[in-house]
Amino acid sequence: MNNAPESFPELFGSMVFNEDTMKERLSPSCYSHWKKCVSDGTPLEISTANEIAEAMKQWAVEKGATHYTHWFQPMTGVTAEKHDSFISPAEKGRIVLEFSGKELVRGEPDASSFPSGGLRATFEARGYTAWDPTSFAFIKEKSLCIPTIFCSYSGHALDKKTPLLRSMDAVSKQAVRILRLFGDTSVNRVIAQVGAEQEYFLLDKKLYNQREDLIMAGRTLFGAKPPRGQELEDHYFGAIRPRVAAYMQDLDNELWKLGVLSKTKHNEVAPSQHEMAPIYSDANAACDQNQITMEIMKKVADRHGLVCLLHEKPFRGVNGSGKHDNWSLGTDTGKNLFKPGSTPRQNAQFLLFLTAFIKGVDEYQNMLRATVATPGNDHRLGAQEAPPAVVSIFLGSELSDVVDSIIHDTALKGAGKRNLDIGVDVMPPIPQDNTDRNRTSPMAFTGNKFEFRMPGSSLSISGPNIVLNTMMAHELMLFADELEKSEDFDRDVAALIKRELTAHRRIIFDGNGYDESWLAEARLRGLSNFSTAVDALPSYIDEKNIRLFEDHSIYTREEVFARYNIHVENYSATIAIEARTMIDMIRKDILPAVSRYGTALSDGYEKRKSLGFSSKYEEENARGNSLLTDCLHDACMKLEKDLREVPADPEAAMHYCHDVIVPDMNECRSFADELETITDRSAWPFPTYSDLLFSEG
Ligand code: ADP
Ligand code: MG
Repeated sequence: MNNAPESFPELFGSMVFNEDTMKERLSPSCYSHWKKCVSDGTPLEISTANEIAEAMKQWAVEKGATHYTHWFQPMTGVTAEKHDSFISPAEKGRIVLEFSGKELVRGEPDASSFPSGGLRATFEARGYTAWDPTSFAFIKEKSLCIPTIFCSYSGHALDKKTPLLRSMDAVSKQAVRILRLFGDTSVNRVIAQVGAEQEYFLLDKKLYNQREDLIMAGRTLFGAKPPRGQELEDHYFGAIRPRVAAYMQDLDNELWKLGVLSKTKHNEVAPSQHEMAPIYSDANAACDQNQITMEIMKKVADRHGLVCLLHEKPFRGVNGSGKHDNWSLGTDTGKNLFKPGSTPRQNAQFLLFLTAFIKGVDEYQNMLRATVATPGNDHRLGAQEAPPAVVSIFLGSELSDVVDSIIHDTALKGAGKRNLDIGVDVMPPIPQDNTDRNRTSPMAFTGNKFEFRMPGSSLSISGPNIVLNTMMAHELMLFADELEKSEDFDRDVAALIKRELTAHRRIIFDGNGYDESWLAEARLRGLSNFSTAVDALPSYIDEKNIRLFEDHSIYTREEVFARYNIHVENYSATIAIEARTMIDMIRKDILPAVSRYGTALSDGYEKRKSLGFSSKYEEENARGNSLLTDCLHDACMKLEKDLREVPADPEAAMHYCHDVIVPDMNECRSFADELETITDRSAWPFPTYSDLLFSEG
């Protein structure tokens, strides 16, 4: 990339048209107009847009950009771009570089190829994109990228950003109402804050290119367990190998230029697995930046002869990759609303926000589970390294004790502490960052934020954050409705907190989420356990959830159904791609290879026998080879037959894929993996788990 300063901190944000750049390059009146639009959420006037567009273009051209694109996040979860050049014809065959306010604020991509879930009839294929003036434009690959929302002409949101912005407004509005009740008159806006930790695998590109499953499906569909997996855990936080270190450094540089505050990097539990965590920001920027991060991770890997895998579960039997969504609420005056305070009143406020969160997670546990329901994540949730599919909250013993003492009106454990009477008494100190004390919880309180650990590594974090914001907005709204009528605020706040904590205590669980006994207990507590996406997705269209979204103007009923339809179709489409890839590899790679190998064994056996020797190795292996080859062949035939019979109706197809195709695939895989273990290394047609997992160094 051009003209980028080489050293940090000048490097940071050098490719972003950020606030400082705007201040520097816009007239004072234009700049303050823009600021006002951002703070009040009002539309940009065309004269302001024109001036910003001109300044943006000049800046971008100085940085070497030739094109611009509206950058948006369709409902698929990947980002989309349509590039136009700045070039306009001028007199005498010359060109000028142009970019107007109209082009900045509104674009019209041909939307017909993006999934609409039935929202947009094909005759109305053109949706429009509009600049989100709260996200900064940036330059990527010589293109000025303008973060935009994406809507149909009938006004339906076709993307993931529009509902996220709506949910941020909703939670802000209700949180401010609560703060007013506590006498706070200075806060005008409450901001949903997010830090998304991103896990990923790095593989050698040459090996990757030899595996059709990795290329087509992003994960391995075959692979026997290697002799050494992650048993030793010696990789976790271990020394980073030079090739990986070079990758990480390059990645940091690219992310910093784009204003992504990539902060921590370390190895993860599995071999070849790593993590990047940025410094948190507002939810909108965090979602944009996580999308950029995933893209840059892949691009930079390519430069280093590596491939970055973002799939939730690239290897069976090896830890999958997640994306921990750290979420909190902060005020525009810089206060974190999930930080326990030092005065009784602050603590009452903290406890009220905490109670709203606990109530929200309990009431909308199914919706939260649905936001992370993808076929890829099915391999991860409930497995040994990931949170279980049951949604629960870990508070840590200090805070759980507080909750229990409120519910039971009992003294708080520990020396010298009196009853915790809200409004008059003090809270025990809550240690910050108790993250790693419970890695098994899907939703852990970590001192001043919640860490939602269920999202898979390839997921857009918009979905989970929309639900977190909206459920919180909803609970705060109900609390505010009640408390605004109160004549004795302190008394009624305390009663409300006690009442709701008692009603929703069941969602709090500080124990080991991997324990079998937890699943039984969760059932007794009445918590849901949706172990697959197929079970979880219908929660999207629960009346209760639709009402939640409608009440806060996040999604219309149609918009909810559109998203549900897309997820349902995506499930079957993903399984079908995997199944077809599997068949291809069995027919074109595995069967021919094991057939050749089996023939060689039999020939060898025959030859020896004719000379009067015996050879157990060849005899038994040839027999095993024949047997397993037949089994694999038959299993493949069955998969092929069943794949021809996928029903046309999308919901029926999803169930069919889950009930019929997935078990067929498991069957194929079991025979193929067993064949791998009895086949000559050099005869196996593609790199094995050992080759892949220890390849990055
Ligand atoms: P761990 O791996 O222990 O969970 P990390 O430091 O790797 O911790 O990641 C924590 C993430 O949480 C970072 O992205 C960090 O910026 C983010 N974070 C910290 N404080 C907040 C907060 N108040 N709200 C949202 N995210 C936060
Ligand atoms: Mg974490």
